[in-house]
Amino acid sequence: MIATTCSVCGRESAYLVKRPFDSIYNQMSIRLDAVEMYDCDRCGESVFTPEQAREVSKQVKSLARERLNLLPPEAIVDIRKRCNLSQEELERLFGLGKKVVVRWEKGRVLQNKTADVLLRLMDRNPAIVEDIRKIHA
Ligand SMILES: [Zn+2]
Repeated sequence: MIATTCSVCGRESAYLVKRPFDSIYNQMSIRLDAVEMYDCDRCGESVFTPEQAREVSKQVKSLARERLNLLPPEAIVDIRKRCNLSQEELERLFGLGKKVVVRWEKGRVLQNKTADVLLRLMDRNPAIVEDIRKIHA
């Protein structure tokens, strides 16, 4: 095993390891079985590179999404496109802030259950988009 520089203590004593990792997302405890990180055998710290941290975040959200039975990002994109909505229009119809839909579709933020139900209704019946527009008119 090749040691790399520990970003905490600065010594050449950090090793790449793969082990279980416990995380919390919206008060849900999520355990990942095999997460890559660097363990330093001098200072005892465990650190993620930015790429590893992004990967952990992605996996945590993916498991949380499954557990909450929420639509995956690709499904949100599909439904939105089939309803002929831009990301901005969907944000307006749902009363969301700017860039929220972008974050859903990139998997960076999970939609709440209410938005998920609305998206599923739009999926079953794209015509309800017109009804939603009337609510805002
Ligand atoms: Zn260290």
